[in-house]
Amino acid sequence: MTKRRFGKTVSRVGRDAGDPDVEISVAADLLSVAGIPIKEDEVSYYSREYPLESFAIEQSASAIWAEKERIKHTPDIDALYKDYQDEIAPIIEKLRKQGNVKPNGIKNTGDISGLIKDKARELGYGEVGFTRFDRRYVYSSRRNELRSDLGNAICLAYEQDYIKTQEIPGIEAEIAQGKAYQRQAELSLELSNFINELGYGAQISGPTWYFGPVIPMFVQSGLGQLGVNGQLLSPHFGSRARLQIIITDAPLTFDSPIDYGIYKFCETCQICFMRCPGKAIQAQRVWFRGVEKNKLIHKRCRPVMARYSGCGICMKVCPIQKYGMAPVMEHYLETGQVLGKGSDDLEGFFLEDKGYFKAGKVPVFDKSFFDMPNGKAEETAYGRLIENLRKTKEDDKQLVEEIWASYRDEIDNIESQKGNIVDMGMDTDS
Ligand code: SF4
Ligand code: SF4
Repeated sequence: MTKRRFGKTVSRVGRDAGDPDVEISVAADLLSVAGIPIKEDEVSYYSREYPLESFAIEQSASAIWAEKERIKHTPDIDALYKDYQDEIAPIIEKLRKQGNVKPNGIKNTGDISGLIKDKARELGYGEVGFTRFDRRYVYSSRRNELRSDLGNAICLAYEQDYIKTQEIPGIEAEIAQGKAYQRQAELSLELSNFINELGYGAQISGPTWYFGPVIPMFVQSGLGQLGVNGQLLSPHFGSRARLQIIITDAPLTFDSPIDYGIYKFCETCQICFMRCPGKAIQAQRVWFRGVEKNKLIHKRCRPVMARYSGCGICMKVCPIQKYGMAPVMEHYLETGQVLGKGSDDLEGFFLEDKGYFKAGKVPVFDKSFFDMPNGKAEETAYGRLIENLRKTKEDDKQLVEEIWASYRDEIDNIESQKGNIVDMGMDTDS
């Protein structure tokens, strides 16, 4: 255990409105980059030439497959997702329409940033930050719905229940996640009405239905840094923060990215990489679409999520999630160690049908466990149709008809699933 040299203090507002500020002491050897390493030109290039698309649309084949697996392995989780779907669908419709609400009267010219931040904190958001709304992170299928006159982003993080999150993977944690999303939906409607009353427009991105990925804008507005697990590590809640953005034309004073020491800390920690049952998390960073990150391998993640209650072990075992950033950074400064690393308390998890895995032990799965269709469901169905037709003699009229009928059924089934929630609260394909 070696005490580290002090680097800097980051001061953040307290966890709840009215709480005193929190000081995060970052060791000198953890200081590297504010936010995340980014190549702006490449982000622009990829956004222009290869626009982003919702994962739910791009990977609809595996979403349909995952639902069948879920029904087989965890019917209670499947029932929970379906209830959530029924409850959230009308709310999403309401959130999407909120962008059309006309602002009231004259534009308020006071301290708009202060008014919005105070209101958001009073409503219960734990982290609030402002930045430019970056249109490079908008899914191509949702560009038309996005208002062109709103250029600013209000980044809002809401805390998911702490105790239930520690029970990952399991139904209690999934319920907590669903509840956090539902609460976020209510709060964002209230906040956007407040913005309208100030005289400005507001359009909501998330929960469950997003214009695009939001983490880059949270990092840009200083609300955390990207972890190896692919999640935002925010000061108070780590990756337990549930995220959404309100896009607005309200004049805001932008925040800046902050170096909390996470970029370097993750290199030392690596717990999520070691504990991921599917080996879906990569130890090494790569450059992807202009951002340096540990790219998650979805083909190894979804088969675990589908059979083990949405998994989420990468969230549960993260010390920043479990203990908060300030104590973790303090411990590192004093000892050079990662708080909780190697302890069952942090790293242990239970998988139904496989038992308890203490620190250092991980489950093993057959190769076939990861067999799963990839890409768009329509394309997979079409590929199957072509293959079946190729194998069939043209004059076998009855078989040819059956192949076409089965293709038709598959397409009908895909259509009937459009708009379904893929996993708890993940984006929908509508
Ligand atoms: S959800 Fe589970 S399988 Fe997927 S990356 Fe996280 S720990 Fe790995
Ligand atoms: S578990 Fe460790 S390596 Fe993974 S995101 Fe959290 S701090 Fe970073």
